[in-house]
Amino acid sequence: MPGAVLVVEDDRELRDLVRRYLQRAGYRVHSTGSGAEAIALLASGGVDLVVLDLGLPDLDGREVLAAAREGRDVPVVVLTARSSVDDRIDGLRRGADDYVTKPFSPTELVLRIEAVLHRASGSGADAADAVTFGGGRLRLDAARHEVHLDELRLELTPTEWGLLTALATTPGRVYSRYELINQVRGYEYPGYERTVDSHVKNLRHKLGRDAAQIVETVLGVGYRLGWPRDR
Ligand code: CA
Repeated sequence: MPGAVLVVEDDRELRDLVRRYLQRAGYRVHSTGSGAEAIALLASGGVDLVVLDLGLPDLDGREVLAAAREGRDVPVVVLTARSSVDDRIDGLRRGADDYVTKPFSPTELVLRIEAVLHRASGSGADAADAVTFGGGRLRLDAARHEVHLDELRLELTPTEWGLLTALATTPGRVYSRYELINQVRGYEYPGYERTVDSHVKNLRHKLGRDAAQIVETVLGVGYRLGWPRDR
């Protein structure tokens, strides 16, 4: 259930990337690199969730977090740099709903936003955080980073998780290797397309006998999730 997301990030390239992915997922997006403008936008209402970089040029990102918490109590997903572990802990303690560490896969950010909005909307049952495919057989839980197939939990590497969640964003849509490597490694890692094949091979090994139907090869193009998403 898409809504309006406010993206607060002073890195213009990253801000635009996040905006594009969110718009593609159906969200209305406001974006700004200024903490003061973010606080003004929050005050004017109409924001359902904030994606917040804590390191802003004009003021401490935690002031934006506090502003989101006032009044309507808008949920916040914090973006943190890998190095700033303190920011992460501090951010969560001060009431962020989730955090994503840079560099991140835009797809993962979208899934996490979806999970936070589900929880915020009061459909807070555990099952609401997960999406299922193939009549409940395949279950992806973005908040917990878990994949279950036929009730069996699969141990995936971060890259395999990224690949599967990227494909699962739109089941049936064919993703090129180039698209997949970009989504999985995030904006900072232009990777080699052929490495996708070896990760898909490993992922399929873990998916077992239905692997070729779940992650389908589309010759000459790329891969797609062959199982439909359950409604
Ligand atoms: Ca920043």
